[in-house]
Amino acid sequence: MAPTPLLTVNDRGLYCEAGDFYIDPWRAVPKAIITHTHGDHARRGMGSYLTANEGLRVLRTRMGEDALIETVGYGTEFSMGPVKVSLHPAGHILGSSQVRVEYKGEVWVVSGDYKVFPDRTCTPFEPVRCHTFVTESTFGMPIYRWPDPAVVASEINTWWRENQAAGRTSVLLGYALGKAQRLISLLDPSIGPIYTHGAVEKLTADYRQSGIELPPTEQVVGHPKGVEWSRGIVIAPPSVQGTVWLRKFGDVSMAFASGWMTIRGTRRRQAMDRGFVVSDHVDWPELLWAIQETGCERVLATHGSVAILVRWLREQGLQADALQTQFAGEEDPVAGEEDPVVQEPVQDSESKIDQPDEQGAD
Ligand SMILES: [Zn+2]
Ligand SMILES: [Zn+2]
Repeated sequence: MAPTPLLTVNDRGLYCEAGDFYIDPWRAVPKAIITHTHGDHARRGMGSYLTANEGLRVLRTRMGEDALIETVGYGTEFSMGPVKVSLHPAGHILGSSQVRVEYKGEVWVVSGDYKVFPDRTCTPFEPVRCHTFVTESTFGMPIYRWPDPAVVASEINTWWRENQAAGRTSVLLGYALGKAQRLISLLDPSIGPIYTHGAVEKLTADYRQSGIELPPTEQVVGHPKGVEWSRGIVIAPPSVQGTVWLRKFGDVSMAFASGWMTIRGTRRRQAMDRGFVVSDHVDWPELLWAIQETGCERVLATHGSVAILVRWLREQGLQADALQTQFAGEEDPVAGEEDPVVQEPVQDSESKIDQPDEQGAD
C-alpha cells in the first residue's frame, strides 16, 4: 500500500498531515505557512501566519493589524510536530520563500512563486535539494525567455525620457506588490520625479522600512494642482486603466511591465503604448535549471502552463505530474478568455487595496 504523500491538496489548500499545517491555504485554517504576500497565496482569516522575517511588513499591510503573524529567518529549521520545516529564499518578491518539509528522511520543497533573474528588492533564489519539488509553472513554455533586466531598465528609462521631451506623462503599470517596487528600482531618478499610486506607495514604504533601498517616490494624491506631471513617471497598478484617476495626467503614454509582454506585446497592445518584459517568475530556462539544481526525483507542477512542462519532464525521464491548486499566475492587464491562469483572487486583493486609497480622492 502506498503511504500518504507528505503533502496533499484538499479543499482548504496544500496540507501536511504529518505536521498538521497548510502552505498558502485558500480557505481559513488554524496554521498557515505563507510563501509570500500575493493575494492568491496569502489570504485573510487564518488562525496564524508564519512567514519569513523579510516579509513581515508587507504581510502585515495585507492581512491587517489583528492578524497573528510569526516570522522565522531563512534557513532556520523548526518543528511542526514530528516534521522539520524551513524557509528558503525564492527571489520572487520581498520575503518570498520556498518551504522545505522533511519527515522520516523524505524531503519536499514547495517553491511558491520564484525567479532566478537578479532583483535587488529581495533575497536571491537559492536551490534546495529535495526528493519532490512542487514548482510553479506560470511561464512554463519554451517561448518564455526573459531579456537581461539591465537592458529592459534602459529601455524603460529611454521611453520615459522620450515622453518627457514630447510633453507626455509616462504611466507604467505593474502589480502593486513586488513588481512596482522592482520597477522603481530600475528607474533613473535623475530623469525626473517618480510618482506613485497610493497602493504602490504604501507597499513601497514597507519595502524601505524592511531595509530595501529605492529611489525617492512621491504619492500622486495630495499634489497641488498645476504639477507638470509630464516630467515624471507614474507607477500604478493595472486596475487604474480606464479610470478617472488617469485624467489628471493629461496626455499619457501607457506601458505595462509583465512576462506576458513576451508574446502579447504586439498582439494585445491596443490599450498600451508599450510593453516591457519584466517578470517575477522563472522563465523556461530558469525553470529547468531550478528543477535540475534540486536534484529531485519528482516534480509536481502548478500555476499556468503545467501540461507542457509535465510532458517535457517525463520525456527527460523524471516523474512529473500536475498539482491542482488555486494559485493564480502573474497578472495580465488585458486578459481574455485564453488566459486561464489569471483568476479572481489576484484581482480581488489588488482592487481591495486600491480602492480605499484612491477612490474619490481627487
Ligand atoms: Zn506571487
Ligand atoms: Zn502565485
